[in-house]
Amino acid sequence: MISKKITLLSGDGIGPEVSVEAEKLLKLIEKEFNYKFEIIKKDFGGCAIDKHGVPLPEDTLETCKKSDAVLLAAIGGPKYDNLPREKRPESGLLGLRAGLQAFANLRPAVVFDSLVDSSTIKKEVLAGTDIMVIRELTGGVYFGKPRGIEVRNGERVGFNNMIYSESEVVRIAKVAFEIARKRNKKVTSIDKANVLDVSQLWRDVVVEVSKSYSDVTLEHLYIDNAAMQLIKNPKQFDVILAENLFGDILSDEASMLTGSIGMLPSASLGDGTYPAIYEPVHGSAPDIAGKNLANPMAMMLSVAMMFKYSFNDEKVYDAINIAVKNVLDKGLRTKDIYQDGKMLLGTKEMGEALCKEFSVCKV
Ligand code: NAD
Repeated sequence: MISKKITLLSGDGIGPEVSVEAEKLLKLIEKEFNYKFEIIKKDFGGCAIDKHGVPLPEDTLETCKKSDAVLLAAIGGPKYDNLPREKRPESGLLGLRAGLQAFANLRPAVVFDSLVDSSTIKKEVLAGTDIMVIRELTGGVYFGKPRGIEVRNGERVGFNNMIYSESEVVRIAKVAFEIARKRNKKVTSIDKANVLDVSQLWRDVVVEVSKSYSDVTLEHLYIDNAAMQLIKNPKQFDVILAENLFGDILSDEASMLTGSIGMLPSASLGDGTYPAIYEPVHGSAPDIAGKNLANPMAMMLSVAMMFKYSFNDEKVYDAINIAVKNVLDKGLRTKDIYQDGKMLLGTKEMGEALCKEFSVCKV
């Protein structure tokens, strides 16, 4: 029996709905794969602001730190949009990532064959796309100082600082090369080295790290060209390595290749000192919250990543991915990925269909 402690942060909007489905899957995994989970639920995001006045209560962060993995659904909502920035749910997210030193954000963008028609990109361009975007998560312009808005010469100026140290680039580049080694052995590093000094350092350090990975091909693309290439010929990419801001934009662009944000999981890893965070890429989707419309697959696939990257269990990872593929092949769809002639399901029904398929197809 393998025991694991998982902190579950259901959050806001559709977060609690997709969390319920993830919990059902975890129950099945306990039964079928001989695990025992202690699932600890904590307030985070808007619900934490409502109860405790802050998006990331100390107790939540401490509990996360003591667990084997953190499973986060989604946070935020219009109710909190007018709060000062530091009191908004999103600052809780930055605090959680920083608190757990989760510097490497992994976002796979895989096009499932049966969803190839759901994307706005031509089928022949898209079919077979399988990209891993690796985004640096705790540095760059989102955290750089000085930052602020102040009055200079009688007008307001706003400023942020894109800053990276050599060691920050080394550790994220190593993650990218290690992952590429287990995939198709190609890393495309993104920068704007023709304009930005910080990008020149990024490029120089990535080249230095690449010398220890002679089996992996390294190429460099400027962020503007990368944004075009991702649409023009996504199959050219295997692992995309990017700093925080460029990675934020490119990973959302990559996600749209797959048809729906409701299909996309992510993992945020550190150096092992603290547990990793697993979460769907989507937000709290207030427009569909409470309506049984949310696609739970991104959350289920985030559970799959938790098994691969935190519990080193490829069997459970494969079984969840096969279950998702089979459910799609059978024509079951939530509204976000619905096409004519397919069977429309709600969040709960899709969660149950996935669990049923998981039980049948476990390998
Ligand atoms: P969103 O991802 O919540 O929604 C964008 C669109 O995608 C909406 O039309 C929504 O209905 C749809 N969508 C999202 N997830 C879906 C799912 N699982 N199934 C079906 N459709 C889905 O992004 P947004 O509208 O820009 O943000 C809403 C709130 O979420 C904001 O408060 C934002 O700050 C927050 N947010 C949180 C996270 C996070 O928790 N990590 C990430 C992004 C946004």
